[in-house]
Amino acid sequence: MKRLFKGLRGKAPEPSYDAVIIGAGIGGLICANLLARERMRVLLVEQHYMVGGYCSTFRRKGFTFDAATHFYPLLGNPATITGKLLCDLGVTNAWIKMDPVDHFHFPDGSTFAVPADFDIYFDQLKQQFPDEAENLTRFFALVREVYLSGLLTHFRWRETDRVAPYSQMTLRQALDQHCCNPKLKLLLAADCGHWGSPPSRTSFVFDSMLRLSYFLGNYYPRGGSQAFADELALRFEELGGHILTSTNVRQIVVKNKTACGVELETYHVDAGLVVSNADLLLTLDHLIEPDQLDRDRVASIRKLRPSHPCFLVHVGLKDMATEVLRAAHGYHWDSWDPDRVATNSFKIFVPTLYEPAMAPAGGHIVIVQKLTAIDYDAIDDWTTHKADVEAYIMRHLERVMPGFTEKVVVKLSASALTSHRFTLNHKGAMLGWEMSPDQLGDHRPALNGMLKNLYFVGHWTQPGGGITPVIVSAMQVAKKITGHTRPGTIAPSALFVGQCGFASKSQSSPLDTVSTARGSGWVAEETCDMAVDF
Ligand SMILES: Cc1cc2nc3c(=O)[nH]c(=O)nc-3n(C[C@H](O)[C@H](O)[C@H](O)COP(=O)(O)OP(=O)(O)OC[C@H]3O[C@@H](n4cnc5c(N)ncnc54)[C@H](O)[C@@H]3O)c2cc1C
Repeated sequence: MKRLFKGLRGKAPEPSYDAVIIGAGIGGLICANLLARERMRVLLVEQHYMVGGYCSTFRRKGFTFDAATHFYPLLGNPATITGKLLCDLGVTNAWIKMDPVDHFHFPDGSTFAVPADFDIYFDQLKQQFPDEAENLTRFFALVREVYLSGLLTHFRWRETDRVAPYSQMTLRQALDQHCCNPKLKLLLAADCGHWGSPPSRTSFVFDSMLRLSYFLGNYYPRGGSQAFADELALRFEELGGHILTSTNVRQIVVKNKTACGVELETYHVDAGLVVSNADLLLTLDHLIEPDQLDRDRVASIRKLRPSHPCFLVHVGLKDMATEVLRAAHGYHWDSWDPDRVATNSFKIFVPTLYEPAMAPAGGHIVIVQKLTAIDYDAIDDWTTHKADVEAYIMRHLERVMPGFTEKVVVKLSASALTSHRFTLNHKGAMLGWEMSPDQLGDHRPALNGMLKNLYFVGHWTQPGGGITPVIVSAMQVAKKITGHTRPGTIAPSALFVGQCGFASKSQSSPLDTVSTARGSGWVAEETCDMAVDF
């Protein structure tokens, strides 16, 4: 695959840098850009031959498949914290807005498409569940309250007790307290596969933050996930950064409890500081001499639960009707219990509905995601495991879309072991540590403090897993290192217009957004204020 960025291409890195970043996932890439923008000399080291980690693509028989991530909330909306950051970094790749945001297929054969406009969504919910109208009003009032206080606490590290009453609440508890109808409860949790954990172990605060962020825009990158990751790598190089791919960091050099360099396969590099975007346990157990670390802290980290891994089937199709795929798109449930997300549901994603160029002319791509509640260490025959889960998924695809199998040109599956092999994520976990209330905030490993001049970015640290939290972790680490974030270049008054407070379509933006978010006033107003002065 042609890469946008150059990389060091066999050239040796410099003997020393201000900062070395281990891992070019989105966390590492964003942090690298932010440090290089402050004129720091930065080396980014990635063990894979591509950048992006879980946000990369691979190609087979002319089809380009997203390896993992495909929902990129907020990034195409320059009025949000993360969307604005991309503008500031000069990221120019285009974003395709999803509307509907998601589709749900229920055990009784009924379906629900979540529109991108909150007011329409809310009206539809009340129409379908008239007996629950008051419950819905109360539920979403709380979601909004929790969303705003969650942003303050987890994305801006503000001391506030607003979130405290809900910080230990799970999504399951919130639903049980507010709704009676089992179908409504499933509908409000039907996308919980995104969290890699069931609603009974998923934070209501984070779920509320993600739920409402969709109404500020949920996007797919034009050209697929790799286009976004490569663009970040290119911008970093333009800022003078160096990228070394296909290179494993073997060790973080520590002297007097201070990180001061890295050992690569063939080079030693001195560093003013080290940022690890790699798996946290790998960093602590394999990259640092044990006597340099506080054993109790490492032991408490080992007790945390990783999120479930996600099994993937990637299929390239020929002569498959677009309307059949559009109808099948989304989450499929054959249980009314949302806690059975890892056993009784799977998701069909069709990237070619947004970006036809991912397939050869006339072709389509189907990517199936299925959480697996496996005991990773107990599986000794991964080939059989893979064949079993793949067969289960193919049976369901044929049931949902009769004749599907005949249209298959290419088919590949990825198990937890595959995820681990390509990214070194512990047990192939989808989003780092499970996003449960007891593993968030101060209970999640901190961004720094383990050793002097050692920082962590990505989904194994605070605030959590998923693209938005990972970007926030990188922003916060850069802020800790450089002592400040740059003020934005776009005046707030130029960004927000009208009642809902979003960028107007006529505003010129460095981002070529396919569709600019409008959003609903009550979701947007305070978020936009926060976005501007983050
Ligand atoms: C199937 C799947 C679907 C998902 N879908 C979504 C979605 O739609 N939306 C969403 O927001 N989130 C999604 N997520 C979660 C999201 O992708 C992750 O939380 C996020 O990408 C993690 O980014 P990261 O930078 O922390 O780490 P990673 O992407 O894991 O990157 C870490 C990088 O470090 C490198 N590395 C590790 N060790 C070393 C070493 N020793 N030396 C050099 N390099 C090293 C790895 O190769 C890797 O490139 C999904 C995850 C999965 C698995």
